Amino acid sequence: MKIKAAVCRAPHAPQSFEELELEEPRANEIVVKIKSCGVCHTDMGMRDQVYPVPQPIVLGHEGAGFVEKVGSGVTTVAPGDPVLLTINSCGKCPACLNGKYGLCHLFWSLNFAGSRLDGTSPLSKGGEMIHGNFFGQSSFATYAMANERNVLKLDTTEDMDYLGPLGCGVMTGAGAVINVFKVRPGDSIVAFGMGTVALSAIMGARVCGATTIVAVGRNDKKLATAKEVGATHTINSTKVPDVVKAIKDLTNGRGVNYAVDTTAVQSIMTRSVECLENGGKAVILGASGQGTRVDLDAVDFMNCGKTILGAIEGNCVPQEFLPRLITLYRQGRFPLDKIVTFYPFDKLNEAMEDGENGRVIKAVVKM
Ligand SMILES: [Zn+2]
Ligand SMILES: [Zn+2]
Repeated sequence: MKIKAAVCRAPHAPQSFEELELEEPRANEIVVKIKSCGVCHTDMGMRDQVYPVPQPIVLGHEGAGFVEKVGSGVTTVAPGDPVLLTINSCGKCPACLNGKYGLCHLFWSLNFAGSRLDGTSPLSKGGEMIHGNFFGQSSFATYAMANERNVLKLDTTEDMDYLGPLGCGVMTGAGAVINVFKVRPGDSIVAFGMGTVALSAIMGARVCGATTIVAVGRNDKKLATAKEVGATHTINSTKVPDVVKAIKDLTNGRGVNYAVDTTAVQSIMTRSVECLENGGKAVILGASGQGTRVDLDAVDFMNCGKTILGAIEGNCVPQEFLPRLITLYRQGRFPLDKIVTFYPFDKLNEAMEDGENGRVIKAVVKM
């Protein structure tokens, strides 16, 4: 079938809107009519080749829409069902069997390779292969080819344009706090970098009952949003000479139980460990360039019994975890609508630019 898609043909360049051909679904594939799709910093990163994804490619990996067609083996959804799209995974490796789909041993091949495992793409243009299957979807398009393993059926449709970002950015931040740290009532936590992932970590921390939730960023408007969604304290790092001291001052000199870094900036990853209380844990969630190292004070690290860990996509089974967040959102306890700004699909390049310049937190394009 003919679809309209945003095609990324070169790094650091706008995507072009082109008419492409989408294949018929194979046995476990699902064609989804995309209604809206969140813009994640990973889209910009892959456009600019932070990781070597092949181009031309259709990006977009926080899609929400309606099932259009299903392959012969699909049993969990049917045409007309509203769905969210999320990360793809194999379902068979030790990580998948342990319920951590983001750690799937085939994560790269299934989400970043720009093709099915057999090397084919469902997208083409007059015989030219256009890479698809980005996060098992490529949702910056009017229709996307998803897979049975990366769809989540929704029970209602009225708020679905707000829910697409759950499939990656929101799941990453909230999942780190809820599933990885397992924050408890009364805990203290800091989040660095005021994008979707950090703000979702803050929302997750409030849901868990954390009582000291510190937001660290450089933009006063975003810090004000952080306060609206759950931060108890904010620190503008451009105005405070020593951020680690400022965090310790908020916690009787002890430091925080947990720190979330979403910046991928080496010096901030170091600070996220330095600001921990004895026995505290820091998690790295930002997409660093290849070769980035973390610099630790080994004496402080050992003597204070600190932990630093990585996590990806919330270390969860999205089909189990996301419905919990959706319920919290509908109860007003996980206010992700406060971070969303909508754009029409043909303003995707502008939406990306606004995200990169910090003018918006989570852009969502509507098809
Ligand atoms: Zn797997
Ligand atoms: Zn993402």
